[in-house]
Amino acid sequence: MDYLRWYRATLDLAVENDTEVADIRPANGVVAVDTRHAGRVATRLARTVVIASGYAGAGFWQVPAFISDGLPDDRYDHTNGPVDFERLRGRRIAVLGHAASALDNANTALACGAASVDLCFRRAKIPRVNPHRFVETAGTMTHFCTLPDAMRWRIARHFRLVDQPPPELALELACAHPKFRMHPGRPWQAVRLEGAEIVIATPKGELRADHLLLGTGATVELEARPELRSLAPAILRWRDRFSPAPDDEDARLGALPYVDEHYGFLPRVSADASGGTAWVARVFCFNAASHLSHGPHATSNSGHRHCLPRVVRGVTDRLFREQQNGYLAKLAAFDTIDLAIPDDFEAKLEALEAAGRILKAS
Ligand SMILES: Cc1cc2nc3c(=O)[nH]c(=O)nc-3n(C[C@H](O)[C@H](O)[C@H](O)COP(=O)(O)OP(=O)(O)OC[C@H]3O[C@@H](n4cnc5c(N)ncnc54)[C@H](O)[C@@H]3O)c2cc1C
Repeated sequence: MDYLRWYRATLDLAVENDTEVADIRPANGVVAVDTRHAGRVATRLARTVVIASGYAGAGFWQVPAFISDGLPDDRYDHTNGPVDFERLRGRRIAVLGHAASALDNANTALACGAASVDLCFRRAKIPRVNPHRFVETAGTMTHFCTLPDAMRWRIARHFRLVDQPPPELALELACAHPKFRMHPGRPWQAVRLEGAEIVIATPKGELRADHLLLGTGATVELEARPELRSLAPAILRWRDRFSPAPDDEDARLGALPYVDEHYGFLPRVSADASGGTAWVARVFCFNAASHLSHGPHATSNSGHRHCLPRVVRGVTDRLFREQQNGYLAKLAAFDTIDLAIPDDFEAKLEALEAAGRILKAS
């Protein structure tokens, strides 16, 4: 935060805290951004908009329906938080998932005095190979979007099927704790309350807990996000552009936006017929929703250095092209003197001519 505050002050950025973007919609040739702050709604106009809404930018942090339907809200948290860990002191915690946030939450709960932590996941073993390390090269992160659609699809499918391991230190720390137990190959099938106790049904029998922490990732549900309300029906998706082989179908991937080389949205109908939806190209999707088009590191911290220049180029390209009108007239009218001529210049020229050092043109 210290760094971000310094950055804001140094660049004099107009950052507005506690302000929610409620819609992004077309308005007289530009884009209107509706915002809500302290109950007040305001609208600003913009020529271009960059959506940088992060990892859950295509949907929401996901709580499986059998849990949200089966338990009161205060008996579970998503590991993306916020989690009141002090409240977990002395309680038996069950964690679902094996990725970074599941392990981080397990360790924090133990550090805050949880009575026990049982961490369950579907796979038979915790993965040890991290496919991110393979694609995390400057070349891949810079040029990913130039790959053919079929190859980008296959890469995204690979990442869906092959999970990444948690950080080594987080796993070591948890395993060293006497109150931590790991349950590979133990997915949760149902949950119910028995008195005050949560009972979790699994293929290996029931598990009992006082509170659940869910490392269950994020959904892809563009139309459910307020800021995408107007954009969602108008933008091109992967399912509109690409048909995978029958054994490679994936509705979640198909619902992601198909964005251009600068992270710009494209209209769902072709440019000629796009009528009212051409405006979507003014909006840039710099969040996790662009990972199919731009790769697993499309907006990750490690990718920023390589991917941000693409967005910046897209925005400036757009702004530049919009200034074409009148460009030629302005060029013709341009009269800023570049070669400054001193007062006695004419006299000097005449003297040079008289001396035969400037030859007459005809
Ligand atoms: C568990 C986890 C582990 C990760 N591990 C790694 C890693 O090891 N390496 C790596 O490089 N990356 C990792 N990432 C990804 C990395 O954290 C993100 O890519 C990075 O933080 C993105 O920064 P950002 O500024 O784009 O988005 P964020 O930092 O997520 O910020 C998005 C902001 O947008 C705001 N917002 C969203 N919707 C609205 C709205 N409608 N109105 C107003 N504001 C809104 C949010 O409140 C948030 O403040 C990880 C992410 C997660 C969740």
